[in-house]
Amino acid sequence: MPKFLDLKSINAQYRQELIDACTRVIDSGWYIMGTELTQFEQEFAAFCGTKHAIGVANGLDALTLVLRAWKELGFIESGDEVIVPANTYIASLLAITENELTPVLVEPDEHSYNLRGTTVEAAITSKTKVILPVHLYGLISPMDELCTIAKKHNLLVLEDCAQAHGASINGKKAGSWGNASGFSFYPGKNLGALGDGGAITTDDDQLAEVLMALRNYGSVQKYENEYKGVNSRLDEIQAAMLRTKLNHLASDTHKRQHIAQRYSNEIDNHLVALPKWSNNEHHVFHLFVVRVKDRAHFMQFLLSHDVQVSIHYPIPPHKQKAYQEFGHQSLPLTETIHAEIVSLPIDPTLSESDVTDIINLINGYQQC
Ligand SMILES: *Cc1c(COP(=O)(O)O)cnc(C)c1O
Repeated sequence: MPKFLDLKSINAQYRQELIDACTRVIDSGWYIMGTELTQFEQEFAAFCGTKHAIGVANGLDALTLVLRAWKELGFIESGDEVIVPANTYIASLLAITENELTPVLVEPDEHSYNLRGTTVEAAITSKTKVILPVHLYGLISPMDELCTIAKKHNLLVLEDCAQAHGASINGKKAGSWGNASGFSFYPGKNLGALGDGGAITTDDDQLAEVLMALRNYGSVQKYENEYKGVNSRLDEIQAAMLRTKLNHLASDTHKRQHIAQRYSNEIDNHLVALPKWSNNEHHVFHLFVVRVKDRAHFMQFLLSHDVQVSIHYPIPPHKQKAYQEFGHQSLPLTETIHAEIVSLPIDPTLSESDVTDIINLINGYQQC
């Protein structure tokens, strides 16, 4: 049986092109902040439908630096509240608390695992300044609804697109809805580098200018520093790897969507709850997450038949030791989701017969 995610096979599809791109950088003699980065930034901005893309060192930095830039611009200040889904990966929260902002944890929708307009609006206070939707598992959040709420309450929107490269609603891409968006190119993401990487997308010229300085020691002109910046750059080798892989992202995404559609059409077992989505939403299925009440038994069953499954994520952020200050909060839906979720294999290199075997196995699963 195949692996849960076979990065070696995924990159082997493009092996020679990756080697050629790597050679191009080695032979250029220029390794940081060069033409590969500027080309990738232009290509990625065009892919997302935004004016700017700014390469940074990783996805966490992408999110952290946007909030930091908004502080530098005077749009937000320490102590302001940021609305974020309670079931997100912890990085979304780390970007908020790193900037001395307050995360307001909101329960997600139980079918899409994403924020919903009604619960977001109910969580808005006089201190709320930002909505941070996370397109978890590659399912895009209801951005039209969330952007309308943001406009009404004069809030900024920062999209966490780490799992959603190329997702869209009615053709408008993830990363182009909010005031700014953070992407991760961690190797296991849908668009993965061969190391760490990240990017910010935005249409805002002023924000882009501040971010380009912040990622490079706060410097606009060499040796002149306007901000107490950081070193968070996307290096030439990773930019070249990403340019190569961006050219093939559509075909990898198509394979993920095909597997997701098969799971959704063919898994038929009342013990296994499937994610639901509507036709105008074009999801990219970073993960395919189902819910099973007796998860331990279900996982044991699949693992004993050599199907690798995983949990994303076993502990919600408010139950982590790092965030003990939120541990008392009542988030029953988030806790139930974390107790029941199982991620099925959705590697784009899975064969049709692998997928058929997994579906048949799941359809034959019975309670103990
Ligand atoms: C991966 C991920 C991040 C962080 O990206 P890194 O590149 O690993 O720093 C942030 N948010 C979400 C939802 C992620 O899945």
